[in-house]
Amino acid sequence: MPALINHKICDNSNECGGIAICPTKAMYYDPKKKSIVVDNEKCISCGLCKPNCPVSAIYVAKTEQEYEKYKKEIEQDTRTIKDLFVDRYGAMPISDFFVITSDQLKEKILKEGITLIEVYTEASIQCLLKSIPIKDITDDIEGNISFFKLQPSKEIISEYEIKETPSLLIFNSGTYTGKVDGYFDINQIDSLREKINHILAF
Ligand code: SF4
Repeated sequence: MPALINHKICDNSNECGGIAICPTKAMYYDPKKKSIVVDNEKCISCGLCKPNCPVSAIYVAKTEQEYEKYKKEIEQDTRTIKDLFVDRYGAMPISDFFVITSDQLKEKILKEGITLIEVYTEASIQCLLKSIPIKDITDDIEGNISFFKLQPSKEIISEYEIKETPSLLIFNSGTYTGKVDGYFDINQIDSLREKINHILAF
């Protein structure tokens, strides 16, 4: 049974982790098609490629039934690559736009409006696919709003008493109002928004 690639969300990079680990060279980058392909004659369904895709675009079927199931899942997937490759709470920063240093923290806090600072560490980075896009956290907050990601210095950890990362520091018109600790995945978006709004209400 073959490996399947969900090309709706695959970025078709020839740096693909699945290609690098494939023991039979079944998975490879085709420069003519500008796409990652799988040679099903060579694929042994070992499954090594699957966990090496950061956006879970690889499926490995071991039976005909699994193959049909995954094929249907891919056909019904409404996501596009643009939906995935955006900066997200809890995930690795994609663009430099959101990343600030500890020294820049105070200057980035809006004097009028809401500033959200996601404090994260390498160890707290979660799957891109399962994390919440930043725009989906902020779109129900009225007024000026800014969002940044920060790997904290010891001073910041101590000042804001951060015990767990990611931790979302919330500032309202220049004043620190509270924080939400811990990771929230895409299924917990309502809970995260509720916590932010609860802090902003006081
Ligand atoms: S399942 Fe194994 S053999 Fe098949 S493409 Fe993935 S890594 Fe290669």
